[in-house]
Amino acid sequence: MQNITPPKAEKQLKKQFADSSAKSAYIHMPFCRKKCSYCAFTSFGALNFIDDYIKKITKEIKYFYDGTPLNTLYIGGGTPSLLEIKYFEKILSLFNFEKPAKLASNKTFPDAVHPKDLLSKDYTDFNANKTSQNNTFTPNDTTQSIDTSIYAPEITVEINPESADINLLSALFKMGVNRLSIGVQSFDDDILKSIGRLHTAKKAKDIIFLAQDIGFENISIDLIYGLPGQKIGVKSSVSADNGSSKLLQTTITQEDSAYWENTLEIAKSLDIAHISLYGLKIEENTLFYKKPPKHLPNDDIQADMYEFAVNFLEPKFSLYEISNFAKTEKFYSKHNLNYWNDGKYYGFGISAAGFLNNIRYQNTKNFKEYMENPLSTKDLSILTPEERLDETIFLGFRKREGINVKKINEKFMIDFDKKYEEIVTKFISTGHIEKTENGYRLTISGILISNLILSEFLC
Ligand code: SF4
Repeated sequence: MQNITPPKAEKQLKKQFADSSAKSAYIHMPFCRKKCSYCAFTSFGALNFIDDYIKKITKEIKYFYDGTPLNTLYIGGGTPSLLEIKYFEKILSLFNFEKPAKLASNKTFPDAVHPKDLLSKDYTDFNANKTSQNNTFTPNDTTQSIDTSIYAPEITVEINPESADINLLSALFKMGVNRLSIGVQSFDDDILKSIGRLHTAKKAKDIIFLAQDIGFENISIDLIYGLPGQKIGVKSSVSADNGSSKLLQTTITQEDSAYWENTLEIAKSLDIAHISLYGLKIEENTLFYKKPPKHLPNDDIQADMYEFAVNFLEPKFSLYEISNFAKTEKFYSKHNLNYWNDGKYYGFGISAAGFLNNIRYQNTKNFKEYMENPLSTKDLSILTPEERLDETIFLGFRKREGINVKKINEKFMIDFDKKYEEIVTKFISTGHIEKTENGYRLTISGILISNLILSEFLC
């Protein structure tokens, strides 16, 4: 990777990013009420700086965004749900969005739309079931249920249960936000407390029910396995062992809420669309790194927890990426698929990463630096063709469908099978890689050692 000195002049940077036509953008909101013990993200208190931060991020977006209608926008953090409604309105107003697919035939609809237009007026023209001439939308009006599949743009906001309420969620829905990613992490109160989360299991469930009542169909939750005190077992009534698992055979009672299975069972019962699973890793600069927690499941147990989750969640949810499950293909995260498909995207805000015109960049993680100049404090790397190939393989294997050999061969003018014959043959024989219609993918046991396998592919 060739590191280049960040240009001093913002104009030079703008020139390098010009005409990227990227259709995805990530926006980082770094504010949190309290630091979770495991958190290595760029997040902090300083809530009194929110207003100034929005001004700086607005400046950054206005300067670099080229106006191409987006098909995904992701507002993550930190805790974006700490923000007042007016800030979301401001951020959404800065972008154009792609025309929803089902509206494509409408000649009078503009090429780029603001998502809230769909709800406030134009949406009603396309809703065959709606006869009322009243064009205002209220979330509790069930006669105006929204089919979110009409949205070409996927607009996600990350929510933490303790900081979201009916006013915020209703406002987001009315603005056209059509996907929520909720930081649940566990449905065990003791575990939540021990990792420094501010919500309870009940609060998490209540916020999911509230969002569903308001009309959000595309709800994702984050869960973490391998947390301190978390256990794994198998209920006698549940068959989760596919023969390769080394799971403990334990009967779980209602009180044993620290069992990973219980969290998964609750998740499965909530009629949500998407689940993201993460294994706990103790990273530097975290509270857990300074003071390691007791009763931490070891790597083998973490692997069992992952394997258990895959078996337990399927077939209701299918694993479509190493860490992500969706109820149906409609709920695959379009924003993340763009990352895994090596697509272009903007990153706005402190620490945000982007990929434009073959340049990977990351904004400074230093809040003071970002606030002083949100335009030029970026680390840039121009990728070589070899690095692009490495990335394509690395990201492609994250997807359950795996890599598409024909596409890779065409894009990089290589013979994949010849170049990687030895590695592929070895891992097929050990059962960690399998052949697919279009190429290869990791098996579940391959996913468990994916770092090892993928490191062998890197040039
Ligand atoms: S809420 Fe998320 S970003 Fe904030 S401290 Fe906790 S883990 Fe980190």
